[in-house]
Amino acid sequence: MSPAPRPRKCMYCRENRVLPTVLSSHVEDMEHDGREFSVELQDFRVLKCQNCGEMVIDDAASEALTQALRAAAGLLAPDEIRRSREALGYTQRELADSLRISMYTLSRWETGAQIQQRAMDAFLRVFFASAETRHLLGAPRSEHAARR
Ligand SMILES: [Zn+2]
Repeated sequence: MSPAPRPRKCMYCRENRVLPTVLSSHVEDMEHDGREFSVELQDFRVLKCQNCGEMVIDDAASEALTQALRAAAGLLAPDEIRRSREALGYTQRELADSLRISMYTLSRWETGAQIQQRAMDAFLRVFFASAETRHLLGAPRSEHAARR
C-alpha cells in the first residue's frame, strides 16, 4: 500500500489541505478549434482543497480532460495517429512532409501535447485510408500498399 499523500498548500486559502480526490462525475465546458464541447468525465481524479473546495488540475487530470475532449470532438487519438503512420511504414518526417506540416506539429499530435484541428483530422483520415490521396500528394509508396 502506498503511504497517505501529504497534503499540499492551497494557493487560495493557504491551508495545507489539498489532497487527491475522485469526482464521480464532472462536466467541463471546453473549447477546441473555435467550438465549445461539453465534456463529461467519470471518476475524475483531481486535487482538491478540503478547506475551501478549490480544485487543482494536475498533469494527469489535464491529460484526462484532453482525452475526453478528443473523444467528444470525434478526433483521432495520439496513438491512433502513430499506429496509422506506422502501418504505412512511414517515418514522422515522411508523413509530415506528405501532409505539408512541420515534424514538430506531427510529433506534438502523436504525443498528445497538441490536438489537431478538425480539418486536419479529416485530412489525416483521408490520407491514411486512401492510397490515391497519398499518391496525389507525392507520398512515398507505403510498405503496406506494396504488399497488397
Ligand atoms: Zn483552500
